[in-house]
Amino acid sequence: MTSNHSLEFDSIIVGAGFAGLYQLLRLRRAGFSARVIEAGDNVGGTWYWNRYPGARCDIESLQYQYGFDPDLAREWRWTERYATQPEILRYIEFVADRYDLRRDIQFSTRVTAAHYDDASARWTVHTDRGDAFTCRWLIMATGCLSVPKTPEVPGIDAFEGESYHTGAWPHDGVDFTGKRVAVIGTGSSAIQSIPIIARQAEHLTVFQRTPNFSVPAHNSLLDESQWQEVAARIAELRAEARTTSAGILGIPLNDVSALAVSEEERRREFERRWAIGGFAIGGAFNDIAINLDANETAAEFVRSKIREIVNDPETAEALCPRDYPFGTKRLCVDISYYETFNRPNVKLVSIRDNPIAEITPKGLRLQDGTEYEFDAIVYATGFDAMTGALLRIDIRGRNGLALRDKWEHGPRTYLGLQVAGFPNMFTITGPGSPSVLSNMIVSIEQHVDWVTDCLEYLRERDLAVIEAAPAAEDAWVDHVNQVADLTLYPRANSWYIGANVPGKPRVFMPYIGGVGLYAQKCAEVAANGYEGFLLS
Ligand code: FAD
Repeated sequence: MTSNHSLEFDSIIVGAGFAGLYQLLRLRRAGFSARVIEAGDNVGGTWYWNRYPGARCDIESLQYQYGFDPDLAREWRWTERYATQPEILRYIEFVADRYDLRRDIQFSTRVTAAHYDDASARWTVHTDRGDAFTCRWLIMATGCLSVPKTPEVPGIDAFEGESYHTGAWPHDGVDFTGKRVAVIGTGSSAIQSIPIIARQAEHLTVFQRTPNFSVPAHNSLLDESQWQEVAARIAELRAEARTTSAGILGIPLNDVSALAVSEEERRREFERRWAIGGFAIGGAFNDIAINLDANETAAEFVRSKIREIVNDPETAEALCPRDYPFGTKRLCVDISYYETFNRPNVKLVSIRDNPIAEITPKGLRLQDGTEYEFDAIVYATGFDAMTGALLRIDIRGRNGLALRDKWEHGPRTYLGLQVAGFPNMFTITGPGSPSVLSNMIVSIEQHVDWVTDCLEYLRERDLAVIEAAPAAEDAWVDHVNQVADLTLYPRANSWYIGANVPGKPRVFMPYIGGVGLYAQKCAEVAANGYEGFLLS
């Protein structure tokens, strides 16, 4: 064991979001020394960085919380059906204090490189502060959506007004009162922030390349009995969530084809689920994700809702997604998004066929020469998802193999947990695991539990190295691709396949086989002595 001030640890964890914090707690309790390195100056990850107006969870708060400790669940009271970013951040800070986690976290420090040494079977981890830590186990809890992506248009630095990225929002907030504001992008973050910015700004122009499907949250306050009931059964509920397809409870699948029922019945089912709100609509029929005709019925239902809500027919049509199947880009959950386009101070500009040519000192210019002037530009342009944070670090495995080279044509992992050629390195919610297609707290806990159990297993047997076998990795990558190809998901130019980052390989990154099947597979692998991994 090593002391806290040492440069040598059993494990280094990169990132202090939900994943890094729980991993630290588990390793500490298991008697491993651990240090967390975090770029931000406090805990929270996603909920530390994304402070834009309207930021909130779109999984219900009673499910988007840790499930490992019933006492914790009893001590924390969520106030709304969908928690706001400030409330989630307060929760994470509460967790950090409650388990005294901060003493093992080094903040305001970015990991720049991590190199594996064959002879010692240890990693050396370098930071932007000049540290060089060594560890046996390197655990990347760097997040799937932690590298904000700005659009590749010239002139961004030339803009003389204020500019913001939703994923790196100023901590003391932004007041748009009396300002002419542009929001670029119409993904989840845009859809959450637009209604709030519209209420503040003098005028808001929304630049949309691709319309997204959005469903109402129907947010509400939680009453005492709701959270108490969950708190009392948290362990049982979490275990159950791990057997579902998305790690979410309470969305029963209507096990019927959308094409096997009459139009009235179909509409009734969609309406019922629209009224429930959130992701309920996803379970309306059993073939929406796999059959294009069935999918089109859901797509057309949402389009009909957009037309009902938005007064101006031209704006309504422009907001209707058409060229990818429903749900194959991340479904957005909103509070009054479409309604916002009925405000006199809000204008939608489609840049699909007339893209932004340049950000100018005063605003921006479209390809056809139209110029706009703004006081502030908000980039709601998403993230270099899933691989971004890992590939920004110079990670080198056995024989100096660079992860950037290994993943030149897209990420390759075994179970989304390890990469062949990179012994003793684990990726929490890595590509090839359900990750972003799930309630991520459920997936994070499942991964952290698996990794901790694995390290205990190795310690008991005096083993120093675990590495994904190349054949197991190949088979898993094939499986991930095959399952994705059974669905409509690869048909969308989404960030799931890296389409939002020019030059990024087009590979469907998350595992779509479902949290339940996936967790079962991970458990079997462990029960069979870590089948598919090489131990020494
Ligand atoms: P993160 O919270 O991203 O934390 C990773 C941390 O690693 C960050 O703090 C980062 O600074 C740090 N880091 C990265 N690289 C380095 C480095 N080189 N050196 C040092 N530190 C580094 N998921 C859901 O399930 N439901 C939701 O409703 C939902 N809503 C979301 C809304 C938004 C706006 C965003 C961006 C994401 C949302 N997510 C949601 C996904 C969310 O990211 C996860 O739920 C969860 O918070 C991820 O936790 P994490 O610890 O894995 O990663």
